[in-house]
Amino acid sequence: MNNKIYRLNLGGELLAHPDFLDGSYNSVNAMLEANKVPAIVLIDGLTPEDDNVVKAMFNAVCQLRRSEIFYAAPIYLTKSMGKLDVFTDGVGITKEEVLPNASKIIFRMEKLSMATNAVNDDLRLLTFLYCREDGYALSPLALTVSPWIYEYPAAFFIGGFAEQSMQSAYHFGLVSDKYPSKTPLQSSAEWVSSLAAQGFLVEAGLVDRIRLCPHCHTGSMNYIDSCPACGNIDFSKKKMIHCFTCAHVAAEEDFRNGMLLMCPRCNVTLRHIGSDYDRPVEAYSCNSCGERFIEPEVKADCLNCRRKSATEDLEVRQLYNLAITAKGKRAVQLGVIDVEFSLFDSNHNVLPLYFYQVADWLLQMKNRYSDEDFSLLCIKIVGLEAVENRAGMAQFKNLIDELGQRIRELVRVTDITTSTGENTFWVLLPRTPQVGGEILASRIEKLSDMVSPEAGARINMYVKCFSISAEYAGSGPVAQGLLSEYEDTMLDVR
Ligand SMILES: [Zn+2]
Ligand SMILES: [Zn+2]
Ligand SMILES: [Zn+2]
Repeated sequence: MNNKIYRLNLGGELLAHPDFLDGSYNSVNAMLEANKVPAIVLIDGLTPEDDNVVKAMFNAVCQLRRSEIFYAAPIYLTKSMGKLDVFTDGVGITKEEVLPNASKIIFRMEKLSMATNAVNDDLRLLTFLYCREDGYALSPLALTVSPWIYEYPAAFFIGGFAEQSMQSAYHFGLVSDKYPSKTPLQSSAEWVSSLAAQGFLVEAGLVDRIRLCPHCHTGSMNYIDSCPACGNIDFSKKKMIHCFTCAHVAAEEDFRNGMLLMCPRCNVTLRHIGSDYDRPVEAYSCNSCGERFIEPEVKADCLNCRRKSATEDLEVRQLYNLAITAKGKRAVQLGVIDVEFSLFDSNHNVLPLYFYQVADWLLQMKNRYSDEDFSLLCIKIVGLEAVENRAGMAQFKNLIDELGQRIRELVRVTDITTSTGENTFWVLLPRTPQVGGEILASRIEKLSDMVSPEAGARINMYVKCFSISAEYAGSGPVAQGLLSEYEDTMLDVR
């Protein structure tokens, strides 16, 4: 195992002992030029009190996470930088403090093609997660400098949001009516939630809930109260008086008559609270339109785009810890994120629910017209993990491509396919009786011999043909239930 440790010297007091270092560099550029293989990085020479050093450390992590080689590498600080520690893998000075975790990361990195996975930011982030221990999750971090309130530290750097933010005017505190931001900035939180929506990440605990501007999706908001009638923010709290004689309600100042309180409408002098008058709850009076109101209207004024929204119109965002899914891991292993691990192209493949509906409809047809038969194939692929481990990633990917292509050659344009679980696929064959389905099943099953790599690892495909008996036709939608029963019987083939 190759556990090289490099020091990045930021100029302050050096804490890491030179004996266990494999190199020391004064800049990230120098480190990147000298090394084409990822290693453990110790950021040393830190002075947390010095703003320039804090900035340099931030920039260094940013540059490393954006580099082709070190984007997923273990990065440690030799001294705590307070809140900034979460942007790295931790704090440590000795080999013992750093190696247990860092060597695991390096070990996982060595099994991947880091260069292949550097092609896009999605893959880089997933690779970063993949290389960390099981159960590692991206956690949202509240950042006052972020217009989105929360950022996900690793994603913040890997996706280049840190660079973007540093250049953005927000960090100079510039909030302007005249020059509201028009650039469609993006946040790391938006990015990771889109990866979660695509199934690459999964929620692992709710952390917080925030409200964002529905127009520009940022979260720096001034909640301002205003007159519900005219919207003006200039109103004041008024003591109100309610005359019992004529029921007139007005501000106390309107009743003042020297030392007395006198109703401006009926001219009765009000002496005793409770019998002559009382003070109702109404408490505000608009200085612009004169409207009286109990509760001012609260609007959220977006400091980024300066548009005002009713609080109920604000966008609600839930912030979760996010962990990598099996689908995310597979993307990392294959070095491909846009290709679903799927045997079928999207022309044939449908969502399971639609697949069940079509099967139920065909069942009705079969019940009505005796010559309308159809059958279903269930394909289960076993042994993929073993191939992956033994034959290596590149070969594994070739194998999947090859298999997919050959199965597609056997599937007709009128056939419909779906995937109901990891490594489980269904094909619906219209106008095909059980006998015809079984012939196709055995053809597909034989494909595993043709595509299995010679190196001892082989994949097995179990293909079974089912048909639904016309007797079920009277019992409503049955396909979903029956198919999952069939799937369970297929589990036994393992
Ligand atoms: Zn009155
Ligand atoms: Zn008003
Ligand atoms: Zn806005």
